[in-house]
Amino acid sequence: MENLNIEVKRGKHYTLAEAGNWSDLDQYTYGPKQFPGKLFLKDVLELTGMEVSMNKLPAGKKVPFYHAHKENEELYIFVKGQGQFQVDDEVMDVREGTVIRVSTPGVRTWRNNSQEDLYFIVIQAKENSLTQCTVEDGIVPDRKVEWPD
Ligand code: ZN
Repeated sequence: MENLNIEVKRGKHYTLAEAGNWSDLDQYTYGPKQFPGKLFLKDVLELTGMEVSMNKLPAGKKVPFYHAHKENEELYIFVKGQGQFQVDDEVMDVREGTVIRVSTPGVRTWRNNSQEDLYFIVIQAKENSLTQCTVEDGIVPDRKVEWPD
């Protein structure tokens, strides 16, 4: 696949990957047209309940299509730069710190109409699948935190 450069470390209860610097995300491509700048993590990390991607959209670029989803809601987390996001013809400005959840039928696209690169994370998870989270789902083992020197 496209993600051969990724170094992966597996433990009994984790998978860790080194994807490289955000600014080098162009090395990863996706789709039949091999668009650069998108790294899907589901297969790399063996995720079972979500798909996550790390994304870079260069200055002045736009996604050349709209899309919606069949089953998954999406969360877009913008981590650096600025641009615009469109859902059902409504246009919103996005920048570092903007988070947008889009439900399945929302017809969406986005662009980077700025002079600097735009970086964001997209998380897909099955709509209405979350039954518990955070403190409700957490377990705190009875052990003191230790670190090697
Ligand atoms: Zn999507």
